[in-house]
This record gives sequence, C-alpha cells and structure tokens, in this order.
Amino acid sequence: MSDVFKNIVSHCKEYGYVFQSSEIYDGLAAVYDYGPNGVLLKNNIREYWWKSMVQLHDNISGLDAAIFMHPKTWKASGHVDAFMDPLIDNKDSKKRYRADVLVEDYIEKLHQKVDKEVRKAAKRFGDDFVEEKFKAEHPRVSGYIAKIEEIKAELARCLNESDLEALGQLIKNLDIPDPVGGSRNWTEVRQFNLMFSTQLGNVAGKEEKLYLRPETAQGIFVNFLNVANTSRSKVPFGIAQTGKAFRNEIIARQFIFRMREFEQMEMQYFVRPGEEMKWYEYWKEFRMKWHKALGTPDEKLRYHNHDNLAHYANAAVDIQYDFPFGFKELEGIHSRTDFDLKQHQEYSGKKLQYFDPELSESYTPYVVETSIGLDRMFLAILSQAYQEDEVPDADGKTSKRLVLKLPPALAPIKCAVLPLVKNKEEITEKATAIFNELRYAFDCQYDEKDTIGRRYRRQDANGTPFCVTVDFETLEDNAVTLRDRDTLEQIRIPINEVERVIAEKTSMNTLLKKL
Ligand code: ATP
Repeated sequence: MSDVFKNIVSHCKEYGYVFQSSEIYDGLAAVYDYGPNGVLLKNNIREYWWKSMVQLHDNISGLDAAIFMHPKTWKASGHVDAFMDPLIDNKDSKKRYRADVLVEDYIEKLHQKVDKEVRKAAKRFGDDFVEEKFKAEHPRVSGYIAKIEEIKAELARCLNESDLEALGQLIKNLDIPDPVGGSRNWTEVRQFNLMFSTQLGNVAGKEEKLYLRPETAQGIFVNFLNVANTSRSKVPFGIAQTGKAFRNEIIARQFIFRMREFEQMEMQYFVRPGEEMKWYEYWKEFRMKWHKALGTPDEKLRYHNHDNLAHYANAAVDIQYDFPFGFKELEGIHSRTDFDLKQHQEYSGKKLQYFDPELSESYTPYVVETSIGLDRMFLAILSQAYQEDEVPDADGKTSKRLVLKLPPALAPIKCAVLPLVKNKEEITEKATAIFNELRYAFDCQYDEKDTIGRRYRRQDANGTPFCVTVDFETLEDNAVTLRDRDTLEQIRIPINEVERVIAEKTSMNTLLKKL
C-alpha cells in the first residue's frame, strides 16, 4: 500500500467513514462496515446515481429485486458453470492468487518500464521528442512493447479457451515470483467459482442449494416482462436497481476496492436488435459525463476497452479511475446482446419477448448495461477529495491542513454551526437555534468544543463544505460568518439567508443540471 492510500484508509476510520467488519474479532477479510459519515456519503452517491438514471430518464424505471433467486437463474445466466476465476497457490507461502492477475501485474510492470524510458527520453530530447517514433525505434522499448502484446494475446487465449495448463505454463515461463514471499514454487492453476452458497430449508431433508447473487443484473432480466407490462414502456427502455452483491473474491485486498460483500448500481437498457451500438455509445458518453460532473479532473478518468469479451458481450468498455494504486475499473458498460433474456426463456420455458407496435413484430430485445460498484465509487470520491494543502494562520504564517474536498452535494454533513465561544449563553443559544432550524433542511452538526481554529480544521478533515460561526456581533446585527471549506472565503450573511445560501451551494439539483 502506498503512503497516501494508507493515510486514506486510516482517515476513513478516524472520521467514521469506513470500519473493518467485526473489528473486535480481528476483522473479516474484505468485508467492511460504513460509519456515521460513510453511510451518509454512500446514500448521497446512490441518490445522485438514482436521480440521474431514473428520475431524469422518462423511460427508465426502478426495481428492488430480492438477493435470493431461484437456483435455475444462475444456471441460465452461466454463473454456475462459468463464473470462475483461475486460481493458483504458492506451495511455500501458502498464499492464493488469481493466475490472470499475476500475469496482468507482470504486464503492468512492463508498461511502467516503458513509461519510465519515455519520460527519460522526453526530458532528454525536449521539444523534438516524438513519443510514437521513440517507442517504435528504441530497441529496448520496442522489445518491451512487443512482449506486452505477446503476453496479452496468450493470456486472452488461455482465458477464452479455459486452457488452465497453458496459463500455469505462462506464469512459469515468465518466471513470476510470489509477490509476498518471492518463491516460484507454484501449484497448477484451478478454476474457482465465486458464488457464495447457502440452502433453503423449508422441507425436512430436502435442502435446496441457493446462491447469494453475484450481480444485481439477473433480478432485472427475470423481471423484464413484469416491468415492461406494468410501466407500459416501449423499447428502448431501462430498468435500474441498486443493491448488495456477493463474490467470494480470491484476492481480497485494496480496502473497499474489492470486497466480498458490496453494492452495485446497475441499469439494463432494452433496445431493438441492431440498435445496440448506438445506445452503447450513448451510455458510454453519459456515464463519463456523470463522473466528470462531480469535478473529477479529465486526466483521472479514462475508457479502457476490454481485451477479452465475456461470453455474453459483443462490446465492453470500462471507465477507469486513477486510484492511489493506479488506473483500475470503476464502472463497466457492456453490450450484452440478447444472451440473458434468451437463456432465461430457455431455462424457464416462459416467453420473454417484446411486441414492438411500431414494427408490428415480436423480438427478444438486446441489452446495454451500465454497472458501477457503489463502494468503488465511494473510494474514488474519497481518493479524489483527500488532500493536504497550506492555509494561512491567524498569525500571518501558513500551516498544513488535511481536507476532504468532497463535492458539496455528496458531503455527509453540509454545514457545521459553531458558537465562537462556549461560555457565553446568548451566543450558544443563538447558535443552537440556528442549528435546530437548519437540521430540517440538511445534515448539520453543532460543535462548541475547542478553539474555533481547531473546529474549522476538524470540519475540513470531515469534509464539511460550510461552517456557520456565531459571534458577539451576531447578537447586534443578526448576521453570521459563513466559511467556505475550499476557498477559505468568509462572508457575513444575515441569519435568515443562511439556509437558502447553503442549500443552493450544496444542492443535488445543481449537480444533476450539469448532466
Ligand atoms: P473486476 O474485474 O475488478 O473483478 P468485474 O469486471 O468482475 O470487476 P463487473 O462484474 O463488471 O466487475 O461488476 C460491475 C462493477 O461492480 C465493477 O465495475 C465494480 O465497480 C463493482 N465490483 C465488482 N466486483 C466488486 C468487488 N468485489 N468489490 C467491490 N466492487 C466490485
């Protein structure tokens, strides 16, 4: 873990964002709990997603399907037979790894070598530097690039053909060591199903195996006709849902990036066969706009086309974010063809077709899906917000401060009300009255402990975008000081203006209107 990432993780604990699950029992790997601030931030991210997808699209409806589904669902979707990760164990360290990830990490190291050479050469050649030419002509760099392509192609072949033996051989040929212990004493590669199972016990002696859903999407597919009929939707139309998903991940590290229990926000968009690429492009663009509306800089987000398409997809792209551990998938946009509906039709024996009144024909719609992990989005937002900057002190010098520059519409606490001193009753009474009024409009905090400077710092680290300070002058002019977390600007405004001003600056509507 890099230092920045370690600091973010401990900040999350200190400020009540994220705790390790069952911490008093030494925790449960890759399972986390959200604290008082975390739950509010999570709710706000979910609301931003839901409103932008459901409320702002006439033809998208919501759904809340159960986590448990009929076991045949997972046969039909392919998860029982194909939702596997190739795993490999190291015989010395006894650690277990995803074989494909070991190879991908090796490829990433080669990329880093290329980048390092490019940076060095760019410095040396200055304005004359042409990156593409350098990459093509420099013997060592072009060698790395050729090797990357060769390994990528072999990895894709192994995964597509489930050739586990060759995948194990690839790891041996590349001489990849155990990232922890350094040993090269590997077992063979085996498939590992990622679904958690449990059983239904309503008939004695006849227990039926159930799975905890590994994605929310299947709840949407099996409800396709229910929603289409009751919402009287015409293709193209979408169904959106948010909810828990469970995966028995082999590599359980990187905090809330990869969890065993997590939450997804998914939308399946049902379209006419043949029109899927048009909608794929639409959603690809819309989803990127959604991320950028939060103020995330362009260079922190990028598209990444899939090298290996899943068995159900004819096009797939990820939106990646530059996490403290590098660019990684944040969201997937997939053109899933008619695979899922056709499979459910076959396994259930029920017709899952749509009659298109304009074409006067029935067909199985194609599906374009957008799928984002709420927890990963949470981590991306926190990583972006976590900053150390220099601020002027009261004595004219500057000092370091730790601040969470969360987008105001998503911040857990919108405003803190601070009486300048706590031993003057008129001031604390006034501050309490303001707080009691503001809490109807948004989440706020009342804080009178410590000096005003320390309280500002505490709210900065908490991510609170505004502080309202009640001082001696307030008693005379009925005005307060409003302090902005990011600009540090302090303005004097009448008490009866406070709610309107803060509501305007922290409003979800303003954010949604950017879309
Ligand atoms: P990865 O390659 O990182 O395992 P994936 O391609 O399997 O992810 P999808 O099945 O496309 O992921 O799931 C959609 C989204 O759900 C991902 O983009 C990610 O944001 C989120 N997600 C998937 N697995 C996890 C997990 N174990 N923990 C947290 N979020 C997850």
